Amino acid sequence: MRALCLVKEKQLEVLDLPPPPAPGPGEVQIRVRAVALNHLDVWGYRGMAFARRKLPLAVGAEASGEIAAIGAGVTRFKPGQLVVMYGGLTCGTCPACREGRDNLCENISGIMGFHVDGFARDLLNMPERLVVPVPAGVSARDAACAPIAFATVQHMLFDNARLKPGETILVHAGGSGIGSVAIKMAKAIGCTVITTVGDDAKIERVKALGADYAINYRKDRFEGEVRKLTKKKGVDVVFEHVGADTFNGSLLALKPGGRLVTCGATSGPTTTINLMQLFQRQYRIFGSFASSIRNIAESLDKMAAGMEPVIDTEVPLSDVAAALKRMEDRQVFGKIIIQF
Ligand SMILES: [Zn+2]
Repeated sequence: MRALCLVKEKQLEVLDLPPPPAPGPGEVQIRVRAVALNHLDVWGYRGMAFARRKLPLAVGAEASGEIAAIGAGVTRFKPGQLVVMYGGLTCGTCPACREGRDNLCENISGIMGFHVDGFARDLLNMPERLVVPVPAGVSARDAACAPIAFATVQHMLFDNARLKPGETILVHAGGSGIGSVAIKMAKAIGCTVITTVGDDAKIERVKALGADYAINYRKDRFEGEVRKLTKKKGVDVVFEHVGADTFNGSLLALKPGGRLVTCGATSGPTTTINLMQLFQRQYRIFGSFASSIRNIAESLDKMAAGMEPVIDTEVPLSDVAAALKRMEDRQVFGKIIIQF
């Protein structure tokens, strides 16, 4: 079977690997249909040690597929059913897992597509517990964006920042995979959305997604623009994933008692913060990583209700090199989907 593998840093190749055995008890076998690419497929998390990662490694941290076969005792799935998968190999038995806080599992044995082989291969076996059914009306292509692009944002905005209807939110990098989803999810509940872009050409595109205001952060200091747009009040919530370049500006953009939620540090992992400002202005800062399995089901329900992911390109496995070049050149607006 085919598998898209990282053979060394920034080099992906399609390898021919043996197919998995028949699924064991409690397992399903999945025929992969669509893989949504993420930066971690190519670069890993910047600044993170690679000690636990052995190459070659099948990439793909989010994907959809069809049930190809079921093992003994599997009752929730039937062959042919469209599904998506949770990529964290959680234990299922620790207190966090039992409470449905899967991304806080105490005994996680790896993240698929990062520490261990991921989803970019024709067939794989998974524990039934980590598989989520796709509701009717959602395509394999769109469903592939649920496990990370949608569920990460669902978790950040609603489990962590507790975003409420009518609030004002600053979404950094509205043209990015998660930024575009954050704009849609916030607009869907009636928030006012201010977003940043790095290029004037993206302003109309983020407004088409629902953003009320777009700031080109290369031209204007975004924190100053946010103050103007909010009549010096600041926003209720900042959706952060840029990191060192923006973190302090993001805090300045918050109103007293405001919440900052972050899931990334693409511009660098360290910064200093003013602790006086932190407690006097009563900011709340949430670190957020991945999601729970429930967040994936919630994301799929939003898709079924009409919230579509932004797709940049959809390419067959044979054209993956060109798609990655677009990602490296930052020409991407939305998700790149690899068809299997
Ligand atoms: Zn656990």
